[in-house]
Amino acid sequence: MKKRILFLSLIFLISLASASCKKISKESENKEVILTSFTVLADIIDNLAKDEFIVRSLTKPGVEVHGYKPTPSDLVKASNAFVFVDNGFGFELWAEKFVSNLKVKRITVAEDLDPIFVTEDFYKGKPNPHAWISPKRGILYVDILVESLSELRPSKREIFEENGRIYKDKLSKIDEEFSLFINNLDEDRRYLVSCEGAFSYLTSDYGMKEVYLWPVNAESQITPRRMARTISIVKNKNIPTVFCESTVSDESQMVVVRETGAKFGGDLFVDSLSVDGGPASTYIKMLEHNLHLIKKGLY
Ligand SMILES: [Zn+2]
Repeated sequence: MKKRILFLSLIFLISLASASCKKISKESENKEVILTSFTVLADIIDNLAKDEFIVRSLTKPGVEVHGYKPTPSDLVKASNAFVFVDNGFGFELWAEKFVSNLKVKRITVAEDLDPIFVTEDFYKGKPNPHAWISPKRGILYVDILVESLSELRPSKREIFEENGRIYKDKLSKIDEEFSLFINNLDEDRRYLVSCEGAFSYLTSDYGMKEVYLWPVNAESQITPRRMARTISIVKNKNIPTVFCESTVSDESQMVVVRETGAKFGGDLFVDSLSVDGGPASTYIKMLEHNLHLIKKGLY
C-alpha cells in the first residue's frame, strides 16, 4: 500500500514538473499574450492561434463574469498583454473602465455580431450578451476571431484559417446533431427553462421557447412575480425538466421543482467553463454537456 502511494506521488510530481516545463518553454519563446475577459473566449482563441500566441483568461473557471471586479494584478496582466479580447454586448460590465487606462489593443467580438435584445428588467432593450451559447453563433465567433488574428499577424493567416476550418467542423457536427434532435421533438416539448435568460440565441436558433427566472445575472433578482410566472408556465405546458447554471445558486429553481413536480436537469455552463477535469473544461465540451443535458431532460 505504502509503495503504491509512493508510486502515485511520484507520478503526480512528474506530471507537475512536466506541466510547468511546458509552460516555461512556451513562455520563454517570448510569445505575445492574448488576454481574454473569460474562459470561453480563451479556449476558442487557443484553438485558432495554437502556437502563435499565449492565450489566457482574466477571469478563472467558475467565476461569475458579468459583475467581476478586476484586481490590481489583473491590471498588470492586461498592461503586459498584446491584445485584450472581450465579448461585448454588455457582458463584461467592468471592461470599459478596465481598459480605459490601458494602452492595449482591444478586440470586441460582438461588434461583428447581430444581437438578440433582452425584453425586460434593467437590461430591457439591450443586447443579450450570451451569443456563444448557440453552436451556430459559435461558428460566427470563429470567423470573427480568425479574421482578428489574421489582422494581428497577417503572415499567419493561412494557419489561422486552417485551424478555424478544423474547429468549425466540430461545431457544425454539434449543430447538426442538435438540429436533428429538435426536429424530432414534439413542438410542445421544445421549452428550455433556466435560471438566467442566457439561452436566447440557442432557443432562437433552434426553434425553442425560452423561460427563465431572471433575465441577466448581476442587477437581476428573482421576484415573487417571476417565480409565479415560471411555475405557472412549467405547470401549464407540462414541461418535464428545468435547469440552472453553474455560476449561480440553483436554490430558486429548486422551488420551481418542488412546486411543479418537474425534474431538475442539472447545471448548464454558460458564463464560464469548468476547471480542468470538469464536465465543461473546453468550449466544445461545454456545448456537448449542455446539449446532452437538454436532450436528456426534454426527450
Ligand atoms: Zn450570464
